Amino acid sequence: MPARIIKGSEISDQIKQEIKVETQRLKQDCGITPGLVTILVGNNPASVSYVTAKQKTAHELGFYSVQENLPQDISEKGLIDLIDRYNLDQRIHGILVQLPLPKHIDEHKIINTISPDKDVDCFHPLNLGKLLIGGDDVVFKPCTPAGIQELMIRSDINISGAEVVVVGRSNIVGKPLAVMLMQKGKNANATVTVVHTATKDLSSHCKRADILIVAAGVPNLVKPDWVKPGACVIDVGVNRVGERISEKTGKPVPILKGDVDFDAVKDIAGAITPVPGGVGPMTITMLMKNTLLSALMHAKRNP
Ligand code: NAD
Repeated sequence: MPARIIKGSEISDQIKQEIKVETQRLKQDCGITPGLVTILVGNNPASVSYVTAKQKTAHELGFYSVQENLPQDISEKGLIDLIDRYNLDQRIHGILVQLPLPKHIDEHKIINTISPDKDVDCFHPLNLGKLLIGGDDVVFKPCTPAGIQELMIRSDINISGAEVVVVGRSNIVGKPLAVMLMQKGKNANATVTVVHTATKDLSSHCKRADILIVAAGVPNLVKPDWVKPGACVIDVGVNRVGERISEKTGKPVPILKGDVDFDAVKDIAGAITPVPGGVGPMTITMLMKNTLLSALMHAKRNP
């Protein structure tokens, strides 16, 4: 039987509706509008399209949103000064600096400059430390891992006690996701294995997984014989493998492929996310959820 398709676009629409309602309530009850600034350095096409999508969503949800477009050659100090300004700006609850940054700017320094209270990407070491410790001190969860966890919860995938294999150990997906899913607590409590480029016999690890999450950035890496029949397969990969002309606009648009050989794996898996329309929409939605959360915390601190 072909796998159930986990439609991230539909689930993210549901969550956005919830955020919209909560945003209205916050405006009415406290006079606070969630505020998000997105900062883009240079004009890398993928970064431009991510930032545009984030701004569009913030606008649709009724947020106060600001887009900062900075030249490729802006100095590190110039960028730090701008972030410091938004750290103090009471209208802004979330600061997002689109990565990657040009080589002359130290990414770690920039992330460390963002106030942890406004770190809606959850890249700051303080927030990542809290995530590692777990429990009530966790404020933000990084957007892509949070989106994946939420997708599974809302698709009735049983995480507790499951054998989870995560392919990839990046700081933004693999590592934080592994930490989140292994915590003792609700919607976690899994046995997690993280595999990466130095792992011997990758496929044998993947084949053990009740939940296989792939964030490697290698198109069609996971083949059907790597997947346990009935497993839940979450494909995080977004790989630009070419261009096609859009029927709607007549303009070239990228052809996107995931890290999983979807057409073949869907006949083996029990549930699977497509690319596009799976994890991608959830990432932006969780960014909005974090911004709302930050605004709610601001309201609590300033009654
Ligand atoms: P990254 O390059 O920082 O990390 C990739 C990880 O995969 C590394 O830890 C590496 O060890 C591992 N890896 C690479 N090739 C491998 C192989 N052949 N076998 C085993 N492990 C391998 O990438 P990232 O930022 O974590 O992103 C991974 C993918 O997810 C990319 O395609 C990216 O575009 C996508 N992504 C999507 C979203 C989304 O919202 N949908 C968000 C973030 C990243």
